[in-house]
Amino acid sequence: MFRKILIANRGEIACRVIRTAHQLGIRCVAVYSDADRHALHVKMADEAVNLGAAAAKDSYLVIDKVIEAAKQTGAEAIHPGYGFLSENSRFVQACDAAGIVFIGPPVGAIEAMGSKSAAKSIMEKAGVPLVPGYHGDDQSPDLLKKEAEKIGYPVLLKATAGGGGKGMRIVEKASEFDQALASAKREAINGFGDDTMLVEKYLVKPRHVEFQVFCDQQGKGVYLFERDCSVQRRHQKVIEEAPAPGMSEALRKKMGDAALKAAQAIGYVGAGTVEFLLDVDESFFFMEMNTRLQVEHPVTEMITGEDLVEWQLKVAAGQPLPKSQDQLSINGHAFEARIYAEDPDKDFLPATGTLSYLRTPEENRHVRVDTGVLEGDEVSIYYDPMIAKLIVWDSNREAALSRLAQSLAEYRIAGVTTNTRFLKKLAEAEPFQKADLDTGFIERHEALLF
Ligand code: ADP
Repeated sequence: MFRKILIANRGEIACRVIRTAHQLGIRCVAVYSDADRHALHVKMADEAVNLGAAAAKDSYLVIDKVIEAAKQTGAEAIHPGYGFLSENSRFVQACDAAGIVFIGPPVGAIEAMGSKSAAKSIMEKAGVPLVPGYHGDDQSPDLLKKEAEKIGYPVLLKATAGGGGKGMRIVEKASEFDQALASAKREAINGFGDDTMLVEKYLVKPRHVEFQVFCDQQGKGVYLFERDCSVQRRHQKVIEEAPAPGMSEALRKKMGDAALKAAQAIGYVGAGTVEFLLDVDESFFFMEMNTRLQVEHPVTEMITGEDLVEWQLKVAAGQPLPKSQDQLSINGHAFEARIYAEDPDKDFLPATGTLSYLRTPEENRHVRVDTGVLEGDEVSIYYDPMIAKLIVWDSNREAALSRLAQSLAEYRIAGVTTNTRFLKKLAEAEPFQKADLDTGFIERHEALLF
């Protein structure tokens, strides 16, 4: 096992990685920007290296500075967290070149999944079901429009380099196509510097169900079941849960096997997530694979009793997977709510300010709070506005959901506007309690939630 690792991230995920690393007796190096000098992840780490100015492009995203920090401190491996450099193949190459272990998949696997269209081609060959659509190289607007006709409206335009719900447009009919394509391309160029598009059948009432997979360097792979992330706003997850309500054992096995097939098709190593759309008739389609630890990984930890960061560290150190598929099982039900500094009454505008008062729900075996902030901290404009995650567990969905509402009610934050009241309304909404879930849930139930 490693003696010392560097965590190339900030906020709750940096803190979460440090917690497990310390339990395994591994020393931790934090990196931080000028804005994060007094941040919790810096306080928790054994050493810390300043990377530069507050903007991520001047600090957390500068590959050379991160590698230099690892060399300087003698860190043997780097955990990238999520976001920032976690899915950047140039960063993985830089780690390889410096003889530092990247705690994640090999370069090839990241590259294979880096483009949504290339990923779809690989999955098509591997026999993983895809949403009907076009993901070819010919990008002429006329051809894309013809493909859309062939697929049948409504269609979804997606930037192949996209992420975080950006560069996507729903097109209801042919007359709207040209304008939607132009605006999706504009967003994609601005966001990702690449406006290659794919066209997909737009499923009208799908659920977002994703599988946690894990593969070791010896070629073994398992899946740690699924998460339902259907509750989304603008294609971004708001509340996640595990297991997916109403999932039969047969469908779980079918989807789990498909997820593993997807991972194995690209020689995957480490923690990965295969995202599927699940249609009302139980047909399911590969959407994309995320080649990192996901924000919502804790719900999987709660229902399996496994520590996924521990698994990541072991696998990266060359050890075999801690458990086989037969040794894994689902116990109870878990929810995660993402606590954001944002104002639901102002169209979820990100909020900033000083956390003048912060009281989190009491943690116990039912309640876990993954946070990266302390009372007195500043929530700035520089980073993602997610400040914490509230995770709850109980023996069944109903009990877990009532714990979620109760814990959200206990959350007290002053100084910065957050979405906790909105989340509580969600947790208490009757259709949510009935698990009547699909990706249009929030839009459909606006009257209940605002
Ligand atoms: P991103 O990488 O930007 O998150 P994804 O491809 O993962 O984009 O899609 C994000 C969300 O968009 C999904 O969770 C789902 O809600 C919706 N979505 C994606 N593809 C489709 C589709 N073909 N039909 C309906 N909804 C879709």
